Formats: sequence, C-alpha cells, structure tokens
Amino acid sequence: MGYSQSQKELLKKLPKVDELIQTLSDEAPRRVRVTACRDVLDSLRSYILSSQEPDPDSVKYETIKKQIEMRLASLLMPSLRPVVNATGVVIHTNLGRSLLPKEIFQSLLDIAGRYSNLEYNLEKGIRGSRYSHVEELLCDLTGAESALVVNNNAAAVLITLETLAKGREVIVSRGELVEIGGSFRIPDVMAKSGAILREVGTTNRTHLRDYESAIGEQTALLLKVHQSNFQMVGFTMAVSVSDLAELGAIHGVPVFEDLGSGNFIDFSRYGIMHEPMVQESLAAGADLVSFSGDKLLGGSQAGIIIGKKEFVDRIKENPMNRAVRIDKLTLVALEGVLRLYQDPERAVKVIPTLNMLCLPSDELKSRARRLQRRLRALKLPGILINTVETISRVGGGALPLQQLKSVAVALTPENKAFSAVRIEAELRKNEPPVIVRIEEDQVLMDIRTVQEEDYRIITQAVASAHSRLSK
Ligand SMILES: *Cc1c(COP(=O)(O)O)cnc(C)c1O
Repeated sequence: MGYSQSQKELLKKLPKVDELIQTLSDEAPRRVRVTACRDVLDSLRSYILSSQEPDPDSVKYETIKKQIEMRLASLLMPSLRPVVNATGVVIHTNLGRSLLPKEIFQSLLDIAGRYSNLEYNLEKGIRGSRYSHVEELLCDLTGAESALVVNNNAAAVLITLETLAKGREVIVSRGELVEIGGSFRIPDVMAKSGAILREVGTTNRTHLRDYESAIGEQTALLLKVHQSNFQMVGFTMAVSVSDLAELGAIHGVPVFEDLGSGNFIDFSRYGIMHEPMVQESLAAGADLVSFSGDKLLGGSQAGIIIGKKEFVDRIKENPMNRAVRIDKLTLVALEGVLRLYQDPERAVKVIPTLNMLCLPSDELKSRARRLQRRLRALKLPGILINTVETISRVGGGALPLQQLKSVAVALTPENKAFSAVRIEAELRKNEPPVIVRIEEDQVLMDIRTVQEEDYRIITQAVASAHSRLSK
C-alpha cells in the first residue's frame, strides 16, 4: 500500500532527533532527552501513517517542541512519589502503609548522607551489631529477653520457622492457615521454610486437646497466627496463647505467635476494639513473637522478632539472616519510632498511624468543614460540595471489623461532564495524585487520612480537574 502525497510530505517535514536535542535544556541527561524526542517523533510518525488526512499542524515545530518538553518532564519525574490518601484507609498497603513521624525526619537524613556506627562498637572500637540499636529498646518496651529485626514480618516468620522447625513439624490450627494478600500464605511460607505443617482442629473450632494429641517426637513448634484481615463469628473456638504455652512447657515445645500487625498500645482506651498487644502475647507465655514494623506500630517496614534469648540467638546465627537483614534507613526510622513509644501518651499524638486512628469526631468534623470551605470558595458550577458521614478503615490486615466513624467531603456531579468516575480519574492524574473513593456516583474524600499539607493540593487538584472536564 502506497502513502498519500500529504502523508509523504508531512513525514519529510518531521525534524531530526539531533536538531531537536539542541533546543532542549541540557540539565536533563542526554539519553533522557533522546528518549523524549524519539518517543514524540515515533508517535507522530504512526499518527501520520495511520490517518488518511493527517493534520498539517501536527508537524509544526512549536507543537512538537511543546510535546517533547512535556514528555521530558514526565520522564524526569521520579516513579515513586508522594500521593494524597483521601481513601480513609489508614494503613493503606498500596499507598505506603504507615507515615513516619516528622520528629524522626532529621535522623533519617543524617544517617542517609553520613557514615554511621551501623555495625561499629564505639566504646570498644571493634565491629558491632546493627541490631544493638533497637534491641534494648524493644526489650524495654515489651518485656522480652531478646530481640531481632529483619526486612519484614514475612521474613521474620520464614526465618523463625527455618531456624526452629526445618524438617520437623509445626502444629497450627486450621482456623489460622491464613492468606494475608500479596501471596503470603501460611502453608506456603511453611513449605518454603522446610518445616512440615501439621494442621489440627477444624476451620471454626480448635481445642487444646487437638494440639495435645498432635504433639509427638517430630514436633518442633506450636504456631499461633493472628487472623489479621478476617474474623470468625458464631460457633467458634480457638486456644489462647497462655493455654498453648502451658501445653508447650509440659512437652518441651516452644510456642511462636505471628501477631501480624503487632501493637504496643491498648486501643480500647481510645474507643477502638482491643487488638492483641505484643506485651500481652509475651506475658501469656509465648516464647517468640513476630510482628510488622509498619502496620499498627506505625514505623518503617520491618519484621520484629522478640522472645527468649536462646531462640532469638539461634535465629540471629542463621545464615538466612543475612539475606533478610534490615537496611540502615529502615533501622534508623524504627529506632526513632520505638523511642517515641517510651512516652505512650505522646506516641499516640505524634505517630501518624496512631494519631489518625484516634482522631476524635469533633476534630474530623471541623477538618472536613475546613476542606469544604476551601472547595466551595472555588465556585465550581456543576459540582455540589458537602460533607457526609462515612466509615474509615484501619487497613494493613488489622482490626478488619473495626468501623471508624469519619467525615468525608463529597463531590456530587450535577451534570454529565462531571461523573464521579471522571473526577476520580482526573484527581488521580494530578501532580501530586489525589486518591479518592467513589460511592454511589459521589467522589468521597475521607478527611481522616488527609494531611495538613494536602488541603492546598486537593483544592488545586479539584479546581484543575473541573477546568479540564469543563472543556
Ligand atoms: C501482615 C502479616 C504478615 C506479613 O507482614 P509484612 O510485614 O507485610 O511482611 C505476616 N503475618 C501476618 C499474620 C500478617 O498480618
């Protein structure tokens, strides 16, 4: 198939990459500038070749240059970047789980850009341990004998099972063979660790005698797993950690609890359901407890293992520990957050995850009104702006039944140009992106997870979404 005269002419008029590059600021690396030019020229070429009557203006030098500058800007933008979380899901795994407290930002910068005593004992002038920076803190906060931190809780569970139960049996209730999401499933992790899963009980009811009759020569561990993202109601029965610990002690079998989220704070004091605390699990007699650093704890991504020294020491010495070890930036953040827990009253105020979970309803209402005022001041025809009651979620596989009463600012489309779906898409394309929820053709922005600096961003994002959709 031949090309039309106009197609051929336009193709000829396309500038060369080399010419275009000269016109771009040389702040951007040359290879990125080349990519930007090629991308734009390629797409123009396919446009010309695929249309019968291509628009002659499409090859205008100014038009092309503008497109290239836009493409360059998007290539230069970091891929991992901040977003506004207006979903009301506090520990939103897709949006980075927990926000670190501002109190610790400086120490992150210091450790990132300077040498540190990460593995250096300053007193003795010899090699030290990276775990020393948080071990005492963890023991002090939880009452544990010993502590270790690894990359995340999935790694904590894997290395604990590998160390203590490889080639031997681990007894777990059928009601606790959970999948957390993102492919973390207890039976699969167990298989990877080389431990043999010995399931006992039924889905809804497991008794102490079920564990008891499964204990034998091959038993290495009694494992209890927090159900995390679901809860069973009705005719159910589970064995408590203290009963398991008693049974384990009689038979000389250690008890390991994977707490999942793990928290130091008694949430029932703040009008939230009680979530098993790390200290409680230890006090009930668990020999080892593992939990995440960035779920309810509100710190950095980490897996924390605490408990009896003899077991923690064996895990520390496992060669696998090197493969799952914690990074210094994670570690400095975790140390900072753990220090904040030394004053629990203050921790609830300054650790964002805790603060957001415990926001009183008066505060939520007044914040929502503040955002509503700012948005109404934009005077946007076609979109109704008001506040509505809504439910926030804890997220992060914690407290799945907890409904947190909250307030959202709702954008209700009043004409065809502004469907909730289109508004949501525009807000998501904003820079920084604003992530919202849609309910019944309304865009909901739950104020609970909106940060101080986000009010201005949301206001600007809604204004520009409105102007783009009005065109
Ligand atoms: C979340 C969770 C994990 C995995 O923790 P990560 O820190 O995400 O690796 C393991 N076990 C349970 C019970 C969990 O809830």
